[in-house]
Amino acid sequence: MDVAERFVTISGEAGNYTERLTGVNIVDTYFGPDKFHPNKQSKEKAAVDLVHDIHLAYDALRDEIDDSLRLEYMMCELQSLNVVVNWLDRNDLSYAELVEGLFHISMKRFSESEIDKSIEILTDAMAGFPGDNLRDKVKEHFAKGSITGETLQSLIEDELQQRARETSEEFRNKIYAIMGTSVTDNGVQYECVSDKPWGAYNWYQGEFKSLNQFNIDRTVNRDTLRASIYHEYEHHVSNLWREKAFLKTGNLELSLVPMHTGRCVIAEGTAETAKDFLGVSEDDSGIRILTVLTSLRQMSIINGAILLNDEGKSEKDVIEYMMYRGYRSRKSSEASIEFISPTTKEGKTNFFAPYIFTYLIGRTDYVYPTFLRASEKDVVPEYFKTVYMNPYSGSSVTWDKAFEWL
Ligand SMILES: [Zn+2]
Repeated sequence: MDVAERFVTISGEAGNYTERLTGVNIVDTYFGPDKFHPNKQSKEKAAVDLVHDIHLAYDALRDEIDDSLRLEYMMCELQSLNVVVNWLDRNDLSYAELVEGLFHISMKRFSESEIDKSIEILTDAMAGFPGDNLRDKVKEHFAKGSITGETLQSLIEDELQQRARETSEEFRNKIYAIMGTSVTDNGVQYECVSDKPWGAYNWYQGEFKSLNQFNIDRTVNRDTLRASIYHEYEHHVSNLWREKAFLKTGNLELSLVPMHTGRCVIAEGTAETAKDFLGVSEDDSGIRILTVLTSLRQMSIINGAILLNDEGKSEKDVIEYMMYRGYRSRKSSEASIEFISPTTKEGKTNFFAPYIFTYLIGRTDYVYPTFLRASEKDVVPEYFKTVYMNPYSGSSVTWDKAFEWL
């Protein structure tokens, strides 16, 4: 087996391991040859053997991979995989070590003055809105057009299918057109689910199509739904280009998309910046306000996650904190607890507990500032080519190197 085949085999085995222990498979999607499908890999392998094989593959990388960006990308993916196995096996990592080990970013707590600054921006953005104070304004604005349950279900199953086709057109006209090249897009199918720790999830299916699931237990309004479509659709787009690159290069590791690695930071960062890529946030005041509010909420969840996982605060205290500092309802704060809690309702390790850091940090420390720099220098087409046509740029460890030209 060459090192890419070993990489995919081990990832599949590690995925089966995480599924056994947490109920969640670390392999988000796979669209390579059947022989290397994660389902076909060992489901019994012990942690010690996984770690051993990860180390062997790691050592082989340097001998077999010439491209330095690809090499660095794969090395860090294996390091993350190693951390995942150790985390679930020994459970002796601090939350900070876990976040840093998986994503190669630091577990940074936002200062209360940074949060105050974000609240000021939101206050300015909502100056003309009805309500006595900011909390009222946010509440009233989001109650307007809020949708849940069956209404949400019919909206998702009918209207969203049309919205997806429009979003696909937007990517084609505003991004692929200036890149001067295109990618096959066989579309996104929408589906409603409930009883999930997340609000929405894009499952890439291979063959240039996705299944997008929306959790209808959550209350959303039309603006949050639109923002969510842009976010999830960008995950689909990013995988379309990845599949295209896999078919062109034959580099097997591109056919497997793992969670909990440096890749996620950039994947969530580009998804969170899609509305900026498409120029939507300039034209639409609802989306603009939502961007500010989302960043405020994410700061409060990140701090909440640190209070809960690192400082041992109670769920009750953390819910109050997120309501107060993130301008959120109790219901929405309680839903976030499920995502960041160290354990699930069934008492297993919560696989998603460290994941919250990827979204805001991916956007504000990586994807968005580089996009602004490309806009200032008038090289946006080259920016998109690096993001979408070079999949090895898509990791927190390779991003800066991939954009050295800028
Ligand atoms: Zn996402």
